[in-house]
Parts: sequence; C-alpha cells; structure tokens
Amino acid sequence: MKYISTRGQAQSLNFEEVTLAGLARDGGLYVPESWPVFSVQEIREMRGLSYPELVVTVLRPFIGDCVDEQTLQAMAKRAYANFSHSAIAPIKQLDTNLYFMELFQGPTLAFKDFALQFLGQLFEHFLQKRGEHCTIVGATSGDTGSAAIEAVRGIKGVELFMLHPNGRVSSVQRKQMTYVEDENIHNIAIEGHFDDCQNLVKAMFNDTGFRDEMNLSAVNSINWARIAAQVVYYFRAALSLGGPDRPINVSVPTGNFGNIFAAYVARQMGLPIEQFIIGSNRNDILTRFFSNGTMSQESVEASLSPSMDIQISSNFERYLFEASGRDAGQIARLMDEFKLKGRFSVDPVLFDTIKQQFSAYRLDDEQTRAEIARVYKETGEIVDPHSVIGIAAARACSVDPAIPVVCMGTADPAKFAEAVEPAIGVKVPYPARLEKVLNAEEHFDVLENDLDEVQGFIRRKVGQVST
Ligand SMILES: *Cc1c(COP(=O)(O)O)cnc(C)c1O
Repeated sequence: MKYISTRGQAQSLNFEEVTLAGLARDGGLYVPESWPVFSVQEIREMRGLSYPELVVTVLRPFIGDCVDEQTLQAMAKRAYANFSHSAIAPIKQLDTNLYFMELFQGPTLAFKDFALQFLGQLFEHFLQKRGEHCTIVGATSGDTGSAAIEAVRGIKGVELFMLHPNGRVSSVQRKQMTYVEDENIHNIAIEGHFDDCQNLVKAMFNDTGFRDEMNLSAVNSINWARIAAQVVYYFRAALSLGGPDRPINVSVPTGNFGNIFAAYVARQMGLPIEQFIIGSNRNDILTRFFSNGTMSQESVEASLSPSMDIQISSNFERYLFEASGRDAGQIARLMDEFKLKGRFSVDPVLFDTIKQQFSAYRLDDEQTRAEIARVYKETGEIVDPHSVIGIAAARACSVDPAIPVVCMGTADPAKFAEAVEPAIGVKVPYPARLEKVLNAEEHFDVLENDLDEVQGFIRRKVGQVST
C-alpha cells in the first residue's frame, strides 16, 4: 500500500515511511492511495477474533509487507497487553439501542492509548530495523501527551518532546506526563494555547532544515498509523452488535476529527456504519461548519472537556480530501486560505455531500454537567465530560431508532474528577494506576510561545544525547 498527500505535492510513501514521517512535506496529510475493502463474508469471519487478532486482520492491508506476519502478531499482543480489561474495548448498554464503548482501559486511561501503544511498537521496530534515531515532537491539549509518553518511554533511538499549553491541562493530565523519569522524555509547557503548541509543531516540520537535522517524527493524530489503529475498535463495535449483518451508528466527541475519521475509514473498508455523529464543546468550529459550510477559526476557550479545546481540526483535511473526490488542488487552496484568513467555505455541492454523511451537536459546560448528572441518574454510569458530549449528541441526532448507536467513551471519569464530582455529588473512584502518578515528582520546562526558543531547546537536548 502506498500513501499520498492530501495536497498532492509530496512524494508517495509506504507504510513504514509514512509512520516515521507524520506530516507530508507539502503540509498535507497522508492517506492510502486507495481504500482496502473487506467483503461481508470476510467481516463475518472476524467475529471470533481476539482484539490483537482483529488488529492484525484489519491493519494487514495498510501495512502490506512492511511488517511480517509473526512480528505484527507480536506487536499487536504487546500493544494491548497493558490494558486493564480483557475485552480491551468493552461495550456497555446505556439504553435501548444506545451503547457505550469504553476506550479508556489503557495505561493513561484515555482512548489515545489504542493508537499510541501500537505506534510505539511500530517506531521501535522500524527504527531498529533501520539502525536510526529520531526526534518526536508533539503537541497535546492533555491526553495525547501522556499516551505518547507511555508509548515511547525508554525506547532506544527516540527522544520525545511533548508541548502542552502551560496551566491549560488538568492537573491529572499534567501529572500523567510529568511523573515520567525516563531520560528520553522531555515535557515542555508553552506559554499559550493548544493551537499555539500545534502551530509550533507544524512550523518545526515545515522547517525542512530542522526537520532533517533532527530526523523529526510526529505522533499527533496527523500520523496515519494512529488513525489506522483506531479503525480496529469500530470493527469490534460493529461485530459485537451483529455486524456486518446489522448496521450501527457511531457518536464521537471530537476536536481534531481523528477518532471520527477512523470510523469513516472503517466504513470505506466495508463496515456498515449508517450515521456519523460528532459532538463538540463550546469550541464548536466543527459543529458550526456542519451547519453553514464555513470553517471559521475563533479563539480557543477553556471548557470542561479540555482535550477538545481546539479550533483547528487537523484531520478534517483527510475527510475533505475524500468528500471532494480526492481533489488535492482544491484542498491545498482551501488550507492555504484557512492559514491566511482563518476561514474557508466549501461549495454547495461539496457541502451537500458532507451534510449527508455527518450530524453534529454542541454542548456548553452547563449542558455537559447536566448530561453527566442525567446519565448517572438513569444508568448509574459515571462518564467523563468528553464522552458525555458524544452520548448527548447521539440522543439528539440519531435518526433511526432501530439502529444501535455506539458512543465512544474516550476517557476514564477519574481523569476529570474536578468536573464530574460536582455534577453527580459523589466521589469518582480512582483506578489504581492513577494513584501512583498523582504523588510522584514532576519534571517539565516552561518556554515562551517562540519557535526559535523551542528549536534551540530541542537542539541542545538532542545534542547532549548524541555527544
Ligand atoms: C483527544 C481526545 C478527544 C478528541 O479526539 P479527536 O479524535 O482527536 O478529536 C476526545 N476525548 C478525549 C478524552 C481525548 O483525549
């Protein structure tokens, strides 16, 4: 399988190259040259597979001959060995035809472990095979950071620099990143917002001199391998509820459009998903786009669901590429316009296509609290302020009551206890793996929102390792 850029100007790469590269050199995002499709019979045969077996089966066409069968099986096993539930992605029923998939049984208690634990395995394998070192830079509004850190801590040949907005991630999220003592992990708190962090990362990638000098890699949700790994649990969700002989709807709380794009990929591969529902918080650039066809950037505001406090939905570019009939020229123009003016509009024909495929719903903080309280009262389930937005969106948007909706549970409520406890009036139970993190010493540096300063810092640290 070859991968092409959404902006049409970068070299096409194989799976190994695309995993190590992250962002394409033309500023675009890599997508498969064509979508592998499973037949209904092939999907039926996936029913009895364990989670790691399903990983191997679903990802095989994306990986091609970049990883041999035995190695891939071992990687899939190791990646999900550290999850605390034997089903890996267990599903609970919340209501008639309303389901909740717990994607937070991994080491950092958020769904990003699904992608990053696997990505860590891929990096280790590919770098070892090549005898190379790399520098990973990433930006996080919270959960990506700890998930990336847990995935690559202690891996030889990898230095990880994780940028987070200073004071703008929850204390649990910060501690989950900064408690780590491994020398290849560097936490940087930037004086700014998440989008500033993300822009710094993008700028470092666009600086080809720096990029080559440091052998930069990304583990942000722009990395194709992450999207690929997330596709697997949509297969699990559908298979558990009678798929492929019965369709499902999915509802996903989103910011960067990564998780919901993985659902879209699953459908491209033949999985019967009827409706794609997305939920956002007050940072509602996506929900506004789905109502008027204009993507317009506003300033980021802090909300109860900080991992979705985003005004640039990077992965949306991948979807737009597909919806436009893979018109790379148009995507490059729209993205340039967005960068320049902070807005772009799609033509009415394209907008019609998009509206047919997605429904979107927005919740402010007050509605989020009310929904947490309601779910607790009606089901006894304590849900986090991100996941609950997906649940509310599912109730508001799902059209056919005969089709089960699977809401993606993206974080353990204990990660956001400050938001959850006042809403339900009881203490959120803390998983054991969180306790040790909360009392540990923290390690991070604070830097200005300044490209030169950040690049200088990274050069010095990487220089110390190689000399
Ligand atoms: C990252 C994250 C999201 C948003 O996911 P995207 O697919 O990147 O938009 C939602 N909830 C939680 C808890 C997250 O960590």
